[in-house]
Amino acid sequence: MDYSFSIQKLIEKFSKFPTVGPKTAARFVFYLLQLPKEQIEDLLKSISDLKQNTKECEMCFNFFESSANSDQNKLCNICSNPSRDKSLLCIVANEIDLMALENTNKYKGLYFILGGTVSALKKENIEKLKIKELEEE
Ligand SMILES: [Zn+2]
Repeated sequence: MDYSFSIQKLIEKFSKFPTVGPKTAARFVFYLLQLPKEQIEDLLKSISDLKQNTKECEMCFNFFESSANSDQNKLCNICSNPSRDKSLLCIVANEIDLMALENTNKYKGLYFILGGTVSALKKENIEKLKIKELEEE
């Protein structure tokens, strides 16, 4: 037996999230079904704002908040901070590792986000690896 079309469709979408399998995806969907309409709309707005207001830094590929009408803002607040030590470059696997290191308050250099560790690499992710950009620095 299958879930109704709308439920099944959303389960398939959530199943594509990292570490989320079909069972967890189904739990998400049934949780959403219990929420009041305003909370669903708030969630939809957060998702839409995420893409609208978030930019990828041209230097380190960290994501940062940027207002929609400031195109000159191309660097994150780490790369654009003059007090950071530009002689140090830490290569991290992803944004989560960057944040963990940042929160220690011990490292004052710059970062470069690789976009996925080599060991976890799948064929379709190879082009996402930013080795080329790194070589050009
Ligand atoms: Zn940056």
